[in-house]
Amino acid sequence: MDEIDCAVIGGGVVGLAVARALALAGREVLVLESEGAIGTGTSSRNSEVIHAGIYYPQGSLKAKLCVEGKELLYAYAAERGVPHQRCGKLIVATSPEQAGQLEVIRTKAAANGVDDLVLLTGQQAIAMEPQLYCVAALHSPSTGIVDSHALMLSLLGDLENTGGMLALKSPISHAECGGEAIVLMAEDGTALRCRTVVNAAGLGAPALARRFEGLPPAAVPKEYFAKGNYFTLSGRAPFGRLVYPVPEPGGLGVHLTIDLGGQAKFGPDVQWVSSPDDLVVDPARGDGFYAEVRKYWPALPDDALIPGYAGMRPKISGPGEPAADFMIDGPASHGVPGLVNLFGIESPGLTSSLAIGRHVAALLAGG
Ligand SMILES: Cc1cc2nc3c(=O)[nH]c(=O)nc-3n(C[C@H](O)[C@H](O)[C@H](O)COP(=O)(O)OP(=O)(O)OC[C@H]3O[C@@H](n4cnc5c(N)ncnc54)[C@H](O)[C@@H]3O)c2cc1C
Repeated sequence: MDEIDCAVIGGGVVGLAVARALALAGREVLVLESEGAIGTGTSSRNSEVIHAGIYYPQGSLKAKLCVEGKELLYAYAAERGVPHQRCGKLIVATSPEQAGQLEVIRTKAAANGVDDLVLLTGQQAIAMEPQLYCVAALHSPSTGIVDSHALMLSLLGDLENTGGMLALKSPISHAECGGEAIVLMAEDGTALRCRTVVNAAGLGAPALARRFEGLPPAAVPKEYFAKGNYFTLSGRAPFGRLVYPVPEPGGLGVHLTIDLGGQAKFGPDVQWVSSPDDLVVDPARGDGFYAEVRKYWPALPDDALIPGYAGMRPKISGPGEPAADFMIDGPASHGVPGLVNLFGIESPGLTSSLAIGRHVAALLAGG
């Protein structure tokens, strides 16, 4: 039977960042990816926003790893020439009731260590973005955008330069845990004996973990899938910064993000679905976007929104439940030596990826 020190299941941005961190710590690492290329899952279907870390509950992994990850990501992208832009973001209040919530958001952000938010009057915000309508706003200067594919290629480059390897078209079907090593079984019947296994299989992580013999079933959360649909704007982007309404229960509202090519898109919305493969955008969902967007961009022309793409949030809390934190469980949590499971790595997983890598390496080092 083949043997490896560390196997990382999943070649998305998180799996690659974890693999890189382990390789830099001197471990022998193999990434096992089921598809024929890296980053074809959630990592290629997101907003590519470097989040500041504003909204997450104080003390949560999301808050901690987002704030750490943001700083690591800006530094890494600058050093490696990964395209990115610290474009900033405006959170806009379009009614006096919403304006009162901005101070609450600022206080929450400060508790997470995000102390650079600036409260603006409507006039000040409109001076920054003349096409905007709002009565007040918060400016987040440390929010930005990044080319997620260039980031993943750079992480893979680091991994390979440190002696790590990537095996594509290598779907893992199940594992046997609990002995001296973990034995991973690929769908083609190949067995691989590993000292360490990191399950970074994204949307498939809980289902895969349920097929890890020796892992207590209670250690695996139920999964839910929340699709996020995007509608792209035909024509020029009206704003140079990202624009978000004041958050509403269950989501961040219909917001505008831009990519590094200057293309503007609205979304993602929240659509609970039963299958992670349900990625087709229903054009009819765009109808509801117009009224929401016109609250802060009254000049949105009719018929300007085109169905774009959809991403799938790997949720571990269901509709109506409070949002769950990232669940990153090492041996101390589930009792299986050498195993780390990553569940519920939804947004801000891209921003947090380098910090998650460090966190997992520390868990496995016993730190
Ligand atoms: C709509 C949306 C918008 C988002 N926007 C942002 C944002 O702006 N900023 C931000 O920070 N985060 C954002 N996120 C979150 C971010 O995209 C994810 O947290 C991140 O991409 C997760 O990466 P991952 O590597 O865990 O998962 P994935 O990218 O899904 O990678 C998992 C990989 O595992 C592979 N795999 C699955 N099963 C197996 C198996 N059995 N064997 C081998 N391989 C397997 C898959 O093929 C896949 O490549 C967003 C997410 C969504 C859904």
